[in-house]
Amino acid sequence: MEVTESACVHGRQAGVSEQRATTPQSTPRRAVARLRDRPEADVLVIGGGINGIATFRELALQGVDVALVERADYVSGASAASSHMVHGGIRYLENGEFRLVREAVQERNRLVRNAPHYVKPLLTTIPIFSTFSGVLTAPLRLLVTHGRGKPRERGALLIKIGLLLYDTFSRGGGRVPRHRFRARDRSLRELPRLNPSLKYTASYFDASMHSPERLALDVLSDGLAAGGERARAANYLAAAGAGDAGVRLRDETTGEEFDFAARVIINASGPWTDLTNADLGRPTAFMGGTKGSHIVLDHPELLAATGGREIFFEHSDGRIVLIYPLKDRVLVGTTDIDADPREPSRCTDEEVDYFFELIRHVFTTVAVERSQIVYTFSGIRPLPRHDDTAPGFVSRDYRIEHGWAGRVRTLSLVGGKWTTFRALGEHLADEALALLGVARVGDTRTTPIGGGAGFPTDRSSRRIWLARHGGGHDPELVERMLDRYGTNAAELLAALPDHPTELALLPGVLAEELAWLAEREAVVHLDDLLLRRSSLAFVGGLSREALAEAAEAIAPVLGWDTERVTAEVGRTAGILLREHRVMLGEPGLAPGGAAGGYCEDGRAPAAAVSAAAGGGGERRPSRSAGRHLATPQPTQQRSTAWPSTSSRSTRAPPRPARSSSTGAAPPSPPARRSTRRSCRGPAGSSTIRWRSGRTCRR
Ligand SMILES: Cc1cc2nc3c(=O)[nH]c(=O)nc-3n(C[C@H](O)[C@H](O)[C@H](O)COP(=O)(O)OP(=O)(O)OC[C@H]3O[C@@H](n4cnc5c(N)ncnc54)[C@H](O)[C@@H]3O)c2cc1C
Repeated sequence: MEVTESACVHGRQAGVSEQRATTPQSTPRRAVARLRDRPEADVLVIGGGINGIATFRELALQGVDVALVERADYVSGASAASSHMVHGGIRYLENGEFRLVREAVQERNRLVRNAPHYVKPLLTTIPIFSTFSGVLTAPLRLLVTHGRGKPRERGALLIKIGLLLYDTFSRGGGRVPRHRFRARDRSLRELPRLNPSLKYTASYFDASMHSPERLALDVLSDGLAAGGERARAANYLAAAGAGDAGVRLRDETTGEEFDFAARVIINASGPWTDLTNADLGRPTAFMGGTKGSHIVLDHPELLAATGGREIFFEHSDGRIVLIYPLKDRVLVGTTDIDADPREPSRCTDEEVDYFFELIRHVFTTVAVERSQIVYTFSGIRPLPRHDDTAPGFVSRDYRIEHGWAGRVRTLSLVGGKWTTFRALGEHLADEALALLGVARVGDTRTTPIGGGAGFPTDRSSRRIWLARHGGGHDPELVERMLDRYGTNAAELLAALPDHPTELALLPGVLAEELAWLAEREAVVHLDDLLLRRSSLAFVGGLSREALAEAAEAIAPVLGWDTERVTAEVGRTAGILLREHRVMLGEPGLAPGGAAGGYCEDGRAPAAAVSAAAGGGGERRPSRSAGRHLATPQPTQQRSTAWPSTSSRSTRAPPRPARSSSTGAAPPSPPARRSTRRSCRGPAGSSTIRWRSGRTCRR
C-alpha cells in the first residue's frame, strides 16, 4: 500500500507560513481529512523523520490505533541530512558506547537483508598517517575525561585495536569479512591517488543507503498497509500546541486547526523535541544538537580516485570525515558544530573550505573547485544536551524520557541514529505498549521493507525478476525501475503504457513515473518530488525548465493549474538556492558569504535569488540533468550481499566503468523515447493514460 495524498505545501523547518502564502491549495487532502474526521487514536507520533516513522510502523504492526503527524514533508529534518552510512560507528568504541555499537552493527546487518534494494555493503578505507597518535589520549578520554578535551588524530595502533574490537561485534556470524591492514606500498597500489605520505590503510565493511528518503517512505508505507484504518499519517500537519482534547494540529497548507486526542503522545521531533514539548506546555531541556553539512561534487577524477570505496578519514583535529561515491557523484562530509534548531541549517563557505582542505590532504593530486559542487545539504543531529564534551564525542546513543502533557502520557525521544531506527522504533513502541497495557504480537527483525521484499540479490534471480515483471518494456528501463524502487517497481511497470514518455530535460525519467510517485507517496510540493521522492536535486544539474517539466508531469494527479505549477517552480528554485546553494542552470555553488552564509533576512543575496527564483538564470543546459532518480552507484553499490570472507575479500572492488575520458560511470542509456506524450501539463491534455486503462484527471 502506498502513502497516498492529493495536494499541497512545504517549507523547510523555518518559513512554513511564508510558503503557505505562495502555493494555493486546490484539492482537499485525504490524509488530513482522515485524521480530522476521527480526531483520536491510542498513540499520536509527532515527527515524520525515520524514528517517528519506524515507531509508527512498529505500533501499526501490533494492531495499535496510531496516527503520525509531520509538520513539513516526511524525512525532511535530520533524516534528510545524513551521511548515508549504515554503520556500527567504530569511533563510538572510543567513547565506550559498546551497547550502541553492538545494536548498530546488528541493525546494519539486518538492513542489508531486509532492505537490499536501498542498503548495500560498503568497503571503507581509512588512510593512516601516524603509528601511535591518540594511543594515550583515547583511553584517557574513555576512562577519565569522558569525551572532554581536544580530540587528536588516531594512529595505526589505536585504529587496529578499534577494528579488532569492531570485528568482534560486527561480523554477523562470519558473513561480514574481517578488516584488513595494508602497508603503504600496497595501499598505493590499490588506491594510487591517495596521499603518498600515508603509512598504512585499514579497510573494513560497513554499509550505506543510497536513498535514505525512499527507504523511510517504504517503512511508512508498510506501516500504513499494516494498520489499515487504524494507522493514519499526514505530512504538512504540525503539532501546534496543547488542545482541549490533547494536541492542537495545524494543516500547514491551509492554516486550518483541529484538536486530536491520544492516550499516549510520542514526541519524535528530532532536534526540535524540546520546542515541541514547549508547544505542548511542558518545556524540557533534553537536546543539544550539532550541525553537520555535506557537499556533493560532480568530479569524475575524484570519483575514480575513491576506487568505489568510502574513504573514512580523520582530520588532524580528530574530527571524522568521509569522501565517497554515490550516484556518480562524490559525497563529502561532515562537520560537527553546536547548533540552535530554531536557526536554519546551511552549508557555509567555511565548511566548504574545510572539506576542500580535507580532500587535498587525502588525494593530494586531485584539484577541487567550487564550480564542481552540484548540491549541498545540512542538518542538525538530535543529540542529547552536552556540557563541554567536544561535539564529535557527544553520545550517539538514544534514550526515552517519560512525561505528561496535561493528562496524557508522553514519551520523548532523545537521540537516535538512522542506522538503529528499527531497534529504536521497537523500544519506543514497547514503552507505548506498556503504557497502553497491550501485548506485543510480533517483531520486525526479519521483516522485509517495502521494495526490499523479494528483491533479487543475485544475477540469476535478477534475470528472472526482470523477465517476469518487464511487461514487454525496454529491458534497460525495467532494470532502472528495479534499481530505483526495488520490487515495488512491478506495480509501476504494470501501470506504464506501452510507450512511456521520457522527459526531454530529465533523461531517464518518465512522466508516468513522476505521476505515480506523486499519486502514491503523499507529494504535496514539487520539492518533495525532487528532493525526497527522487535524487534529482542531489545529483545536480537542474534547470528551471526541467523543474517546470517535472511539475507539469505531476500536475494532473495533484490537480495543479498553470498558476500553481509556476508557484511550485518558484518555490523549489528558492529552496534549492537558500537551503542547498544551488543556482538553477548555473554551475557551482551559489554565493553564500561567511558563517550562516546568507543575508540577514535568511535569504541569499538578491541577485542570486532573482537569478534562481525567477530571473531567467538558465544560461547553460546542464550536463547531466535528471540522469538519476535514485539509481544506485554501479559496482559496489549494486552488490547486495557481503562479499566472500576469504582472505581476498577486501580487495578493491572493480572500478566504476568509465565513460571514455571522464572516468565517470556512464549514464544509463536513455530509455526509448515515446513519440506520443501520454501526460501533458495543465495547459494541455490533463489525462495520464495507464496501461490498465485507468485514467487520472486533474
Ligand atoms: C549531518 C548528519 C549526518 C548524519 N549521518 C548519519 C549516518 O551516516 N548514519 C546514521 O545512522 N545516522 C546519521 N545521522 C543521524 C540521523 O540522521 C538522525 O539522528 C536521524 O535521522 C534522526 O531522525 P529523527 O526521526 O529522530 O529526527 P528528524 O529526521 O529530524 O525528524 C523529526 C521530524 O519532526 C518534525 N517536527 C518537528 N516539530 C514538529 C511538530 N511540532 N509537529 C510535527 N512535526 C514536527 C520535523 O519536521 C522532522 O521532520 C546524521 C545526522 C546528521 C545531521
